[in-house]
Amino acid sequence: MSAFDRATAFLTIDVGAIVANWRRIRDHVGATCEAAAVVKADCYGLGADRIAPALAAAGCRTFFVATIDEGIALRKVVADAAIAVLGGPLPGAAADLDEHRLIPVLNSPEQIGLWAGYATATGRRLDCALHLDTGMSRLGLDAAAVERLAADPALLGGLNPLLVMSHMACADEAEHPKNPDQLARFRALSDHLGLGGRRSLGASSTIFLGADYHFDLVRPGIALYGGNPTPGRANPMAAVARLEARILQVRDVDSPMTVGYGASHRVTGKGRVAVAALGYADGVFRSLGNCGFGFIEGERVPIVGRISMDLTTFDVSALAPEKARPGALIEILGPHQDVDTLAADAGTIGYEILTALGRRYLRDYQNGAV
Ligand SMILES: *Cc1c(COP(=O)(O)O)cnc(C)c1O
Repeated sequence: MSAFDRATAFLTIDVGAIVANWRRIRDHVGATCEAAAVVKADCYGLGADRIAPALAAAGCRTFFVATIDEGIALRKVVADAAIAVLGGPLPGAAADLDEHRLIPVLNSPEQIGLWAGYATATGRRLDCALHLDTGMSRLGLDAAAVERLAADPALLGGLNPLLVMSHMACADEAEHPKNPDQLARFRALSDHLGLGGRRSLGASSTIFLGADYHFDLVRPGIALYGGNPTPGRANPMAAVARLEARILQVRDVDSPMTVGYGASHRVTGKGRVAVAALGYADGVFRSLGNCGFGFIEGERVPIVGRISMDLTTFDVSALAPEKARPGALIEILGPHQDVDTLAADAGTIGYEILTALGRRYLRDYQNGAV
């Protein structure tokens, strides 16, 4: 039996759609702004080794990862592009960054000191990006650190700041007052630094706040992978992932039976329950128990009972028996249910759904995987 025939749960990734989404953003920001790609967390769970080379082949020249190890893995499949590491260096990490030609994003005076010290020690001028905090209170130089740097540019001795960047807290709420506030702070702080170099503010949602937010480089992540960067409005991005599982068993139920752990679903009257071959170990959130949906040939079937590690149970009473039969596929993500809809039912965001996708699906990369 082939692996395909054996498999009971399938994750199909449309690499062509990811490339099309990147082109859509590239065209949206225009020729004066570079469209990079954020490929951290293994391309949000979808597979950086298959997706990043396709983006590079389409013309993407700059990639962002979160960790040095992600950068080292990416360097093996993307030979020439710039790879920036969002987390920056901790003590001892500079030589690894250098060896794999990774550009650290420097988020604090300590990180600047580490990378500048390494540049001085090796007698070379080294590329970096500088991250300014404009309102996230997460990574990045605060206003006081920017002030010290502006007053003493020698702190950057030996460094070549290619990019000055910041990150937005509320860009998914287009009308949020923090958006123009962070934009103004970013302008003021980066002007004050006066380093030259290019500027970058925009992740996926920020890109759709308007051209003022684009600067010289944008850093889309979720939009490439099909998540809606404009919540509340139609999704401008193409769908990317399809997730399906086979039905292993269909059983007749009747009151007073219960379904699953904790007997959390009580059967009322005659019906049928289909048991599908995926569960929370595959990234189906337990919060979808008694609350989410699947689709069989386009017909919506509610999840009943708790999600198990390897199994999910659906009420298929309303379906013709020949549709809900062992071996039939239930769609969890696909044309009838996008990642944002599933996320809303699970009480989370599309980002968490994608990055939680499990490792035991039969993965199929379609349309232009390199
Ligand atoms: C994750 C991340 C991005 C990409 O964010 P999306 O919302 O997925 O587009 C961009 N910049 C930084 C600093 C990030 O951490």
